[in-house]
Amino acid sequence: MPHTSPRRTEAPPLPEPLPIPVVDNHTHVDIERDGVVMGGEGAGGGVRGVIEAARAVGVDRLVQIGCELESARVTAEVVTRHPEVLGGVALHPNEVPVLAERGELESALEEIDRLLRGDRIRVVGETGLDYFRTPPEGRAVQAEGFRWHIDRAKELGLALQIHDRDAHEDVLRILAEEGAPDRTVLHCFSGDISMARECVERGYMLSFAGTVTFKNARDLRDALAVVPLENLLVETDAPYLTPHPHRGAPNAPYLVPLTVRTMASTLNVSVPELCQAISENSERVYGPW
Ligand SMILES: [Zn+2]
Repeated sequence: MPHTSPRRTEAPPLPEPLPIPVVDNHTHVDIERDGVVMGGEGAGGGVRGVIEAARAVGVDRLVQIGCELESARVTAEVVTRHPEVLGGVALHPNEVPVLAERGELESALEEIDRLLRGDRIRVVGETGLDYFRTPPEGRAVQAEGFRWHIDRAKELGLALQIHDRDAHEDVLRILAEEGAPDRTVLHCFSGDISMARECVERGYMLSFAGTVTFKNARDLRDALAVVPLENLLVETDAPYLTPHPHRGAPNAPYLVPLTVRTMASTLNVSVPELCQAISENSERVYGPW
């Protein structure tokens, strides 16, 4: 008997709207999942459709992240067409060793440096370390890439968004060695209570994704519970990490309310109070839209 469950490609319904609008501070409108690009013209109205669906449920601002060259170019262009969208560009930690291997890293970083100076680009990211996908031999150049991005954020006065997969200690160590930018965000936070406390002590922002809603994510909710409201952000990382109960279906910014509601109950605060904090924190970190 075949042991495959049907793939969930149908878009989940709109959740109950949030009472105060918030920001999805990390999404990828240009990334394809199961043959569909969230912001593609074939997927219900392109980027405009993504924005309208999100706005209908109280997610009225987005940060679009482009972390490969082509995606960074798309990001630089998308933000000029949509006032609801700010952007971030970088070379992803898994992309850095691949480009280095091909001898293309230097020219790619030059282009990222140029794109970072674009209108409405407010973030260097996502950068960081990924020990899950990059094998040990790629990690030295990956760390060099991370240091380069930290330096760019400080030089250009931009926020830094960090990707950290199975590399908590080295991420914190390198940030301390380099000196973190004033506005440093751990995107899709995945650490434990002690890491959450350490990040708060250092003044970093912790951005929670749909993973915090997963049934088996008790440790992550325990970590969230120790974070003060002023250090919190929310994101989808769409098209990935679709929140419960739609895990496995395509994700998009309009599903942020599901994550916000789980966060509010974990933190034992009201939904409006959390929305207000997320909205203010987002504008403090990225500037006004
Ligand atoms: Zn991402």
